[in-house]
Amino acid sequence: MMVEVVEVSPRDGLQNEPEVLSTESKVDLIRRCIDAGARRIEAVSFVRPDRLPQMADAEAVMAGVPRRSDVSYIGLVLNRRGLERAIAAGVDEVNCVVLATETFSQRNQGVSVDEMTRAWLDIAKAAHAAGLRAGVTVAAAFGCPFEGEVTTATIAELVRRLADGEPDEIALADTIGVGVPAQVRELVAVVTAAAPGVPLRAHFHDTRNTAIANALAAVEAGVMVLDASVGGIGGCPFAPAATGNVATEDLVYALNRSGYSTGLDDRKVIEAAAWIGGRLGKTSLPAALGRAGWFPGERR
Ligand code: MG
Repeated sequence: MMVEVVEVSPRDGLQNEPEVLSTESKVDLIRRCIDAGARRIEAVSFVRPDRLPQMADAEAVMAGVPRRSDVSYIGLVLNRRGLERAIAAGVDEVNCVVLATETFSQRNQGVSVDEMTRAWLDIAKAAHAAGLRAGVTVAAAFGCPFEGEVTTATIAELVRRLADGEPDEIALADTIGVGVPAQVRELVAVVTAAAPGVPLRAHFHDTRNTAIANALAAVEAGVMVLDASVGGIGGCPFAPAATGNVATEDLVYALNRSGYSTGLDDRKVIEAAAWIGGRLGKTSLPAALGRAGWFPGERR
């Protein structure tokens, strides 16, 4: 069975690294991910450049990426202005992020959960009218750095409202890396009931070494789309000493050895990881597979 891995290093990865890369390097990273087999890529974010200098060149990145019918580029948008930029830049899909808790929403996006929900409904309608796929991410779905535990009832209610936008996909994100497999199983069941028929995607962080276990739990619960970042780049803004996004190569290994295909070439993913690690000035990366190697032996 195939599990789709969405490569998020160009957006989520680089956004959470202090180093600001050139447009050319970003495009180069995207090319390397495609060469490694990535076919859905979270490429850019259309947010205010003064808020997020790492993503200020989103239009230039999109102008430089290879255009292929088998590759879909996702742009993150939080309002109509962002959507207009995304459409003009020629992304294939937009993704909107709604925080699950009030405090996180206010601190991160400067709006209430209700306001962001309405922004998503507006974006979804306009994106669909423009012929784009539109997905929504529920961030901090597994726990909040400010409010602590997030109940499944909170997520269910939020997802019911978000489903009014007829999302092409709903993503559950463990933004601060606190989730565990039992919680994954529970949330997937609750969200499936709240938004029947909507494909689910999951985004895990390895902050507490639970990302691979959570990813496998999600797949076994029926989630066939997972986010990952080459090398595991992109730290955790709420735990500066910890790792962030689950590493693409480690996820490929765990999925492949569990009987799932991804279409990704682990050796090329490792090469892309080493390359971006060098650009970011890192002496080591969170990913384990590049150090440990495939088992058993070299993959053909
Ligand atoms: Mg992330």
